[in-house]
Amino acid sequence: MDRNMFASDNYSGICPEAWQAMTEANSGYVNSYGDDRWTAKACDALRDFFATDCQVFFAFNGTAANSLALASLCRSYHSIICHDMAHVETDECGAVEFFSNGTKVLLVPGEGGKIDPAAVTHTVERRTDIHYPKPKVLSITQATELGTLYSIDELQAVGELAKRHQLKLHMDGARFANALATLDVPAAELTWRAGVDVLTFGGTKNGMAVGEAVVFFDRQLAEEFDYRCKQAGQLASKMRYLAAPWVGMLERGTLLDNALHANRCAKLLAEQLLQIPEIKLVHPVQANAVFVQMPEKLIEALQTAGWHFYTFIGSGHARFMCSWQTSEDDIRTFGTELERIAAALSSASGEE
Ligand SMILES: *Cc1c(COP(=O)(O)O)cnc(C)c1O
Repeated sequence: MDRNMFASDNYSGICPEAWQAMTEANSGYVNSYGDDRWTAKACDALRDFFATDCQVFFAFNGTAANSLALASLCRSYHSIICHDMAHVETDECGAVEFFSNGTKVLLVPGEGGKIDPAAVTHTVERRTDIHYPKPKVLSITQATELGTLYSIDELQAVGELAKRHQLKLHMDGARFANALATLDVPAAELTWRAGVDVLTFGGTKNGMAVGEAVVFFDRQLAEEFDYRCKQAGQLASKMRYLAAPWVGMLERGTLLDNALHANRCAKLLAEQLLQIPEIKLVHPVQANAVFVQMPEKLIEALQTAGWHFYTFIGSGHARFMCSWQTSEDDIRTFGTELERIAAALSSASGEE
């Protein structure tokens, strides 16, 4: 059996609804570079979804979507404030700095992957002189890299914080649907009504083959963004294939269904993991990730048995991810094997 299933949500394949939508778009000749009816429909579907007249673009991946969106919010002498575990800082190979021509990323700490508002204020206010890169943007991740969520109240507080310090607010929503699924509020509440200026909305981890939407709630900020995408090599010529899955998945409600399923699986997986007394949960399971602390020996034994999961995110904890493709059977199989391996280890240590 496949023991890769919990490594990352981007280990999953393309969900049937996304595949179906691409098949539907796959007939005849269609105008290129986004001048097609699928792209127009996808933008409209996203406007409906967010209940506002937002400006929408599609990029191939999250790194490009994030860094181009952030670059459009600042000049090279500005700075972007984000959490020290933010994907834009730790997993994008300096793309933000590159595409913004050197805008500095300033890091703040915070519990559970969420920025500490006091640290943001300190970062903005500690210097106001010309020698310091002027803070211009606050970037947050929802759901966070640690599988936690900003509640609506926390989000509104972040929005007010950004406003107070005259910072634009960017949201990395690679797992935005997972946040929405748990919080069960209209998408508008989690974004522009809370003060988010730009959202990068992830499709890939939710079940698409490829593609993230960049959603500008403040249309002025989107000025010439199309040129930025083109220059960065992010303007798809056969755009219909990036756009069509958004149409299909928004029309059928698949984005939310997939996220609900993945989140529910994460809860089940956490239950399985926590049956082993040596395993401790390190962050509340609020989206599709489970972060646990477990003995090094158990990590090794699971890996030897072929189970693949990440241990480099956070601080040496084990991360297990669920996706639209995770099945309850897989979780039960894993649970049974985990129990067997843990029991073998503890009887071995008893014999020492
Ligand atoms: C996966 C992910 C992205 C996008 O990464 P790409 O590999 O560039 O598509 C962005 N932000 C977060 C928090 C992610 O987990």
